Amino acid sequence: MTHVLVAEDEARIASFVAQGLRSEGYTVTAVASGDEALFHAESGDVDLLVLDVGLPVMDGFEVLRRLRAGGSALPVIVLTARDSVADTVAGLDQGADDYMAKPFSFAELVARVRRRTASAQLGAGAPSTVIAIGEVSLDVRTRRATVSGAVHDLTAREFTMLEMFLRHPDQVLSREQLLDQVWGYDYDPGSNVVDVYVRYLRRKVGADRIETVRGMGYRWRP
Ligand code: CA
Repeated sequence: MTHVLVAEDEARIASFVAQGLRSEGYTVTAVASGDEALFHAESGDVDLLVLDVGLPVMDGFEVLRRLRAGGSALPVIVLTARDSVADTVAGLDQGADDYMAKPFSFAELVARVRRRTASAQLGAGAPSTVIAIGEVSLDVRTRRATVSGAVHDLTAREFTMLEMFLRHPDQVLSREQLLDQVWGYDYDPGSNVVDVYVRYLRRKVGADRIETVRGMGYRWRP
């Protein structure tokens, strides 16, 4: 199993990232300071580090510098505030593989985590990349859905939403859950984007497959 170390001192973001990655099947260790991040990253038991720049005790850049100075090739995705992107790009020269500006969506994060851990997974016996329920299957590598033999290309959000439904068939998913997973923690909960995207998805997978559960959310009919 792929082990992701998450170093983030903002509790809300840390738990959003950790819970989300766990639901995707990753093992997650979360820490809230730079010295803890370095300690766990150097333990050798970690496949990827998601590293916030603004951390107490030792900032993300310093963690990265020491990690690389110690000879570690651990893949690192740096999290940074949107207005510090220029600084972060400079930080990439210190050995980060990728960065993401906050606020980011869960879909963005998962895409990057997948990409950075793909080679490690291939070496360790790749997990199945296709989720299939009845006549609907989703290839998480190509991001294509096949519905009764017809292939559909999906946008990033449609893909993440469909993946969420297929991983939780016959379960009511609330608008808040879908909003968190597909759009991220920073989206206005009063927005109707979830309903709009359910409509898009219904056009591709068939309207009766996603049931509206009044006052609660949506359910995938297996
Ligand atoms: Ca921070």
